[in-house]
Amino acid sequence: MNTLKKIPLAVPDLTGNEARYLQECITSTFVSSVGPFVERFESMVAAASGAKGAVAVSSGTCGLHAALITVGVGPGDLVIVPSLTFIASANAVSHCGAMPWLVDVDPATWNLDPDLLEHILSHETRLQADGNVIHCASGRRVAAVMPVHTLGLAADMEAIVACARSRNLPVIADAAAALGATHRGQPVGALGAALSVFSFNGNKTVTCGGGGAIVGDHLPQLALARHLTTTARLGSGYDHDRVGFNYRMTNLQAAVGCAQLERLDPFVQAKRAIRARYDQAFADLADRVSPFPAPVDSAGACWFSGFVMRRAADPEAVERLRTGLQAVGIDARPFWKPLHRQPPYRQTPQTPQPVSDDLWWRVVTLPCATGLPEEDQHRVILAARRLLTG
Ligand SMILES: *Cc1c(COP(=O)(O)O)cnc(C)c1O
Repeated sequence: MNTLKKIPLAVPDLTGNEARYLQECITSTFVSSVGPFVERFESMVAAASGAKGAVAVSSGTCGLHAALITVGVGPGDLVIVPSLTFIASANAVSHCGAMPWLVDVDPATWNLDPDLLEHILSHETRLQADGNVIHCASGRRVAAVMPVHTLGLAADMEAIVACARSRNLPVIADAAAALGATHRGQPVGALGAALSVFSFNGNKTVTCGGGGAIVGDHLPQLALARHLTTTARLGSGYDHDRVGFNYRMTNLQAAVGCAQLERLDPFVQAKRAIRARYDQAFADLADRVSPFPAPVDSAGACWFSGFVMRRAADPEAVERLRTGLQAVGIDARPFWKPLHRQPPYRQTPQTPQPVSDDLWWRVVTLPCATGLPEEDQHRVILAARRLLTG
């Protein structure tokens, strides 16, 4: 039997007002999607993200789906998505009846490569007389650009938004794990996307158990997103003006979310401290591993921490390292397998993927719960160093 205490990748810290607020929901009977915590949660998310308003929804995926429909993505369209992302980004596109156009990432940030974006829009699309951007090879309309703030590090939004804006393409940011991140001092919801979407799934830095939020500055657009996520209902009767969705967050989820958001700053500080400690602990092994990206002008939310094995490693060696850590109770995991390698998206339009193909299998994520005790992190470091140098 293995008597070593297991160190999980991430566990939520629910030791604040979560239980008290949940009890308030039960006592008041406001457990569903109408309730004071939903409104409070929306104000807190808007404030934390630097956006004018927020719409709370039942998951990040639902939020992305509703945001895409809000900006007019429909059946047959293409939406530009980085291939290195969690599959939910592309699934939200598919739920619209559209297809992702998978673009490679920038090795310096692991985010959508803005130069490649400009290149494919210049060389592989044409502007139609009606203003639509058409993908030459498929004849499909390009309807939006969806950068992802990978690991909670803001994508190069200045370049991406400029590129999209010059063609009148809306930008929907998948900011799932990025609440708390800033770029040149600006919070992540204020970087130029029409709408940004957060996830509050159980493994994110701030959780509602499950949940999401759409934020933006254009209030009529947020009102449309709200309308779509509440069955497109007009007033309090049974009048609906289109096919809507039941995507609202419940007061129970929002109660947990409010308690979590009260501690957003300490949570993000804890994530950054864990990341800094790992970076420092493996710095002398630069011939074997390199740190996750850290551009100078961005303060990431550091959702996950870990390291990247050097190219000299082979997939078996990376797998051996992960299983070696698992064997001593340390929950080391692989990272997202790029979407062009997944059965549902093998046939979708895509750029060559030298960066994502070379990167994803070398990433090792390490335990990084906000409440990770220092001695546990020390154990992770010692075990990883032993395996890396042994
Ligand atoms: C977590 C995550 C999502 C999905 O959010 P859910 O709330 O689980 O639906 C989408 N995109 C990225 C990049 C994520 O990390």
